[in-house]
Amino acid sequence: MSDTTANKAIRSIAIVGGGTAGWMAASLLAQTLRGTDCAITLVESPDIGTVGVGEATIPPIFDFLKLIEVDLDAFIPATQATFKLGIKFNNWRAIGEAYWHPFGTFGVSIDRRPFHHVFHKARAQRLDPTVPRFSLAAALGEAGRLAHPDSRAPGPLAGLRQALHFDAALVARFLRDHAERRGVKRLEREVAEVTLRDDGFIDALVLKGGGEVRADLYIDCSGFRGLLIEQALGAGYEDWTRWLPCDRALAAPTAHVGPPAPYTQATAQSAGWRWKIPLQHRVGNGSVYCSAFLDDGAAQDELLTAIGSPLAQPRKLSFTAGRRKVMWSRNCVALGLASGFLEPLESTSLHLVCSGLYKLLDHFPDRDFAPSNIAAYNRALADEYETYRDFILLHYCVTDRDDTPFWRERAAAPLPDRLAERIELYRACGRVDAKPGELFTDLSWFYIFEGMGVRPRAYDPLVEASNFDQVRAILPDLTARIDAVVAQSPTHEAALAAIVRRSAA
Ligand SMILES: Cc1cc2nc3c(=O)[nH]c(=O)nc-3n(C[C@H](O)[C@H](O)[C@H](O)COP(=O)(O)OP(=O)(O)OC[C@H]3O[C@@H](n4cnc5c(N)ncnc54)[C@H](O)[C@@H]3O)c2cc1C
Repeated sequence: MSDTTANKAIRSIAIVGGGTAGWMAASLLAQTLRGTDCAITLVESPDIGTVGVGEATIPPIFDFLKLIEVDLDAFIPATQATFKLGIKFNNWRAIGEAYWHPFGTFGVSIDRRPFHHVFHKARAQRLDPTVPRFSLAAALGEAGRLAHPDSRAPGPLAGLRQALHFDAALVARFLRDHAERRGVKRLEREVAEVTLRDDGFIDALVLKGGGEVRADLYIDCSGFRGLLIEQALGAGYEDWTRWLPCDRALAAPTAHVGPPAPYTQATAQSAGWRWKIPLQHRVGNGSVYCSAFLDDGAAQDELLTAIGSPLAQPRKLSFTAGRRKVMWSRNCVALGLASGFLEPLESTSLHLVCSGLYKLLDHFPDRDFAPSNIAAYNRALADEYETYRDFILLHYCVTDRDDTPFWRERAAAPLPDRLAERIELYRACGRVDAKPGELFTDLSWFYIFEGMGVRPRAYDPLVEASNFDQVRAILPDLTARIDAVVAQSPTHEAALAAIVRRSAA
C-alpha cells in the first residue's frame, strides 16, 4: 500500500439498522477489516422493529457463513434452522400440478451436452423422464430425507447442494453477538436526522435525545424507509410494479403437523402465492398478494383457510417491487430492504445482501470515493437485481392458469425485452442465455420452464451425435444411484436431531 493510499483509508464505518442486513454487514466488515484500525459502529433503534421474515436462503449462504467463520453446529440450533434442498412449486402452471426447483446437479453431462437436452430427447423418445428421477435434491425432498454434499463421494452426492431455512430474528441476534465479539460497537439509539456536507456527502447521524455519529463510510440497512440512501440522499426508486405487481404480504407462524420438510413450498393462490417454510420450532407461513386484485380481509381469509390456526396474528407488510436507482450514492451504500425489494419467491433478498457486501469489498473505497468506482458497483448490482426480477417474473408469465383476473392479467402482461428474448430462445431450441457467473444458471431456468410446461420446439442437435442406445441404458442407472443415496439417508428430522445433540455435547 502506498503512503497516499494509506492516508486516504476509510477509518470509520457507521451502519444504520440492526435487522438481518445490518448484522450481516457488521459481521463481514468486521471480519475483513480486522487487521486495520477502522472502527465499525452499528446504530439500531429500540423502537423501530425489523421485518424479520427472511427465513429461506439459497446455497451460497454457506459461503457467507464460512467467510465470517460461523460454527454451523452452533448456528443451526441457535437459529432453529432446518435444511432446504430446493423449492416445490404448487399450482403455478395449473391447479393440482407441482414441480421442483431443486439445488445441485441434474443427471450427468453426456458428451459435454448439458443433461437437460438429453432430458428433452428422452421425452421425445417417450421415456417419460421426471426431474426427481435425475435430481438427488428433489428425490431426497420427496422422501423427507437429508444427505450432505460430499465432493469425494462417487455418484450424485458430489453434486448435491443445500441451503437453510432459519428464524431471521434469531439470525440477527446470533450475528450481533458474533460481530460484537469482533469489535463492532452497538448503539441502541434512533437516528433523528442525517446532516449533509456542502458537497452532498453525509456528514453525521444526529441521534434522538442528543449526540451524533460521524463516519467516513455509511451503510444504510434501515429497511424499506431507506433513511440515508433515499430520505437524506434522494437516490430515487425504480418501480417494477408493472412487472411484479404483488405489493402486500401477510406472515403467520403455525405449529408443526408432522416432521419438517427439507424444502420450501410456494403455492400459487388466487392473486399471488403462499410460502411454507419449516423451522425446528414452528412453520413459517405467509402470503404475497396483489392488492389491486385482493383486499386485505380476503387475503387473510385465504391464508387462514390454507394454514389453519396460527400461533400469532398475521402480520401485514406493504412493499413496492423495484430497486433504488443507485444503491451506492456518495459515501453511503444501501443494503437489504433499503436497497430494493423483490418478492421472496426464489429467496433472493438475503443473497442480495451478501452479494452487495462482496461487491462492496471488490469496490472498497478510500476517502476520495472515486465516482467511476461507485458507478461500477451500481452497474453490477443493478444488473443482478434485473436478472433476479426476470427469473421471478418467469414463474408467472408462462402460466396456463386463467381461473382468476390476476392470473389472466399475469399471462397477458408485457415482459422486459431480455426476458422475452430468453423465453423465445428456450422455446426455439431449449437453450438459456445465462451469462457465466449468474446466480440462476441455465439449469435453474430449465427447471422453471420445464415445470411450467414450456416445451422447446427442438433440443441441442449435438445430442443426436451421442449413441442414444447407450444413453438410454445410463438413465436407469442414474436413477438407481439416486435411489440408493435416498435409501441410506436419515430423515431430515433425525439429521437435525443429530446436529442438535452434537452441539449440546
Ligand atoms: C414478506 C417478506 C418475506 C421475506 N422472505 C424472505 C426469504 O424467505 N428469504 C430472504 O432471503 N429474504 C426474505 N425477505 C427479505 C428479508 O426479510 C430482508 O431482506 C432482511 O430481513 C433484511 O431486512 P433489513 O435488515 O434490510 O431491514 P429490517 O429488518 O427492516 O431492519 C431495519 C433496521 O433499521 C433500524 N432502523 C430503521 N430506522 C432507524 C432509525 N431512524 N434509527 C435507528 N435505526 C433505525 C430498525 O430498528 C431495524 O433494526 C422477505 C421480506 C418480506 C417483506
